[in-house]
Amino acid sequence: MPLMLYPNLVDAVTYATTLCERWEFYNDRSFYDPLYLMDLAKANDQEFILDEDGSYVVSEEGAIGQSDDGEEIQWLFIPVTLQGTLPNTIHEPEVKRFCTHCGADVLSPGKFCGQCGGAL
Ligand SMILES: [Zn+2]
Repeated sequence: MPLMLYPNLVDAVTYATTLCERWEFYNDRSFYDPLYLMDLAKANDQEFILDEDGSYVVSEEGAIGQSDDGEEIQWLFIPVTLQGTLPNTIHEPEVKRFCTHCGADVLSPGKFCGQCGGAL
């Protein structure tokens, strides 16, 4: 499933709450439930208008981020149940790679395999 893009945070949160029930804010370990997050989104949308190229981003796990330029993503609310990593950009192609040590799928570009820890 591709990333979903929204012009405002309320719409992004509305969709994300169908995917996840609890988030952690990315930089201060505070936790959000759907009601708390929706209150924050409503206040946010009254205060902040994104640039023309900007959008809010929801991942298939329910992670919520913001992109100011339509390319790079700043992830803001991370599902507490998230496994794996989130893409850094909206258009990052999902490259299918396999670990040469254990054969596991390696979904995101990195230096080490997420399964066995082997260098890639
Ligand atoms: Zn491996």
